[in-house]
Amino acid sequence: MIYLQKRICLSCRKFRLEDPQSGVCRVDKSVDHYPMKRTEDGCDKWEDAGQQYYIRTGWIKKTLGKEEKRKGIKTL
Ligand code: SF4
Repeated sequence: MIYLQKRICLSCRKFRLEDPQSGVCRVDKSVDHYPMKRTEDGCDKWEDAGQQYYIRTGWIKKTLGKEEKRKGIKTL
């Protein structure tokens, strides 16, 4: 079975992840501040980030896991 990667910003080459939910789109190098994008946004300029996509999803999972743990400890 072939797994098709979702054509969202998170899996795009031009995306730089900044926090678990969002990052910036570096498609237009001429702008001063790259536009903020949510990880699930997308557009027709999408380009496959390849392995980078899995690194990003791994980082998100790890970060959210840590956050959950921290909250868990706080509420005890
Ligand atoms: S807006 Fe388009 S080009 Fe920019 S990161 Fe998202 S999918 Fe990629």
